Amino acid sequence: MDKNVTFYFAPHQDDELTNLGAGIVRQLSAGDDVYVVLCTDGGASSVKRMLIDGGGCRWHGGCHHYPLDAAAFTAARDREYRESCRRMGVPADRVLISPLRSPDGGLSVEQAAKIILDALDRFCPDGRVATILPVYRCHQNPDHTAIGEAALQLHRQGRIPAPALFFEQLLCGKTPEGTGLERLDPTSEERARLLDAAAAYRIWSPETGFYAVGYHSVADEFDAFCSDLYGLLKYGDR
Ligand SMILES: [Zn+2]
Ligand SMILES: [Zn+2]
Repeated sequence: MDKNVTFYFAPHQDDELTNLGAGIVRQLSAGDDVYVVLCTDGGASSVKRMLIDGGGCRWHGGCHHYPLDAAAFTAARDREYRESCRRMGVPADRVLISPLRSPDGGLSVEQAAKIILDALDRFCPDGRVATILPVYRCHQNPDHTAIGEAALQLHRQGRIPAPALFFEQLLCGKTPEGTGLERLDPTSEERARLLDAAAAYRIWSPETGFYAVGYHSVADEFDAFCSDLYGLLKYGDR
């Protein structure tokens, strides 16, 4: 039997974990091939100011003044992303940063569709697509809506199989009822991998380029993720 090959499209560094991680570790334990594709530069984080311009940091009890330009800040976030993927068990050569990625906050549906097709085209045209379920309420991040919407549109055009779309629990609180979402409960081994991956966003080692950008920006989201760890998904328009 052919192996399942699935591409997980993460709008920002950390979405591969907090929104898609339960699916990624489950497919890896099933022996499937997993690619992860980052779709923006993650450059709009408010942490940039905190780390660079001497904003106060309660966590480290003081101020930070690291001379990071936009490229260095994105590189620091990319490092956390790669480390998170590595800890989930994704082989390094399948942890991708799309050459077509958008500036953070500027991902259009059109560009997202290009990113999806480009990755499939270069690595596995028959691959399946997994990303975030677009929701038009709860103030979903527009980059998240764009990538989900792009996957649905490509499917409706017959260009990709039904995508697996993950509902953002952290966004709307509890699970909506009657929406046909399937619950993915990680095994204890998978939970250990997810927790280890979350810790990648807490690495504080400025001398090696790790600034814990993830935890400086959304510590509460990581904590909420670490306390449940399950995923909720649906396939295509079903
Ligand atoms: Zn995001
Ligand atoms: Zn700090």
